[in-house]
Amino acid sequence: MSELSTQLIHHPYAPPAGFAAPQPGVFKASTVFFANVAALRTREWKDKSGYTYGLHGTPTTFLLEERLCTLEGGLQCLLVPSGLAAIANVALALLKTGDEVLIPDNAYGPNKALAEGELMAWGITHQYYDAMNPADLAEKIGARTRLVWLEAAGSVTMEFPDLRDQMRICRQHGVLAALDNTWGAGLAFRPFDLEGDGSGNLAVDISMQALTKYPSGGGDVLMGSVVTRDLALHMRLKLTHMRLGLGVAANDTETVLRSLPSMSLRYRAQDASARELARWCRTRPEFAQVLHPALQGSPGHAHWQALCRTGAGGAASLFSVIFDARYEAAQVDAFCDALRLFKLGYSWGGPISLVVPYELQGMRAAWPPHLAHGTLVRLAIGLEATADLQADLLQALQAMA
Ligand SMILES: *Cc1c(COP(=O)(O)O)cnc(C)c1O
Repeated sequence: MSELSTQLIHHPYAPPAGFAAPQPGVFKASTVFFANVAALRTREWKDKSGYTYGLHGTPTTFLLEERLCTLEGGLQCLLVPSGLAAIANVALALLKTGDEVLIPDNAYGPNKALAEGELMAWGITHQYYDAMNPADLAEKIGARTRLVWLEAAGSVTMEFPDLRDQMRICRQHGVLAALDNTWGAGLAFRPFDLEGDGSGNLAVDISMQALTKYPSGGGDVLMGSVVTRDLALHMRLKLTHMRLGLGVAANDTETVLRSLPSMSLRYRAQDASARELARWCRTRPEFAQVLHPALQGSPGHAHWQALCRTGAGGAASLFSVIFDARYEAAQVDAFCDALRLFKLGYSWGGPISLVVPYELQGMRAAWPPHLAHGTLVRLAIGLEATADLQADLLQALQAMA
């Protein structure tokens, strides 16, 4: 008989198979065992036929990947440690020295920072294009363009582009298009069926998401996904994913698996609340402009209307307000500080409403002509009662004045 320590580690008991419960089991591993050397030598890590190493997948990560494919209408999925890591995975897999990437001027800021930092240092150039002007995109696609980023709605300023037209242009030029689908989350529109006829003619090539937002739903997990419908493209992304050592933790994956069933209900409720508050903000004299793609007159509203479900669940619970120019930046800061339910903080998609003031000047090549001049504040609506949030906004406006 071996020592007790060995007995405990190599214990023979295995619980009966067939355990079924609402939530799947959580499998944690760096090491994965093989039955024999032949199995170790022949096990395939590139597909879901088996397990080789924690970084290459466990039952827990395979489950989440498959559910995210269903959510977005894709066929393959990669999980990465954050939304930004998903953006980087796409860029590093598809771009090399001498190539160019096109990014919308209103894109998620760190996407632009990656282009200006590492990509530039490695001889990969970028151009920013006007997401609201398809001619500008068409003009900027050149012989060296290998990747076009799309984002709907744009970060912070919430312009909704004509995604179909943008995809048509990318197709005409034979350039890969990657969508940052964090806002739509797979719920507001179908990224692989932009035409809505199931043909896939105008499908994006890649849809990435920050699962950090609605899929997590708790403000407590960082994760990203990269979904495709083309096996060869997926393998290019997957090889880079493997060589960079990107992986996600089992407990974080479990958290997202647990939140996913309630996601469409949360998205719908938060959307309805955000629209109600955005409409109320429109009635307030303090604001020169309210930016929410579902609101008539907001930049790109017609494009939103053409692509998204127009009822609740057709938009993320984000909108921005531009204060009338008579308010100084310090007064707008005072408004943000006076909010009690809205917390100051980045990210969104969780239960608590958030507020961030932005300095638009430094974020854009030029002040967009469709935006009023004034200080911009972005509001992310959580799951609190709408009336309480409205009262909070009102008291903060009064405190500011
Ligand atoms: C939050 C966000 C990301 C990045 O997600 P992280 O998990 O925070 O890295 C990317 N794109 C958009 C549009 C986002 O809102």
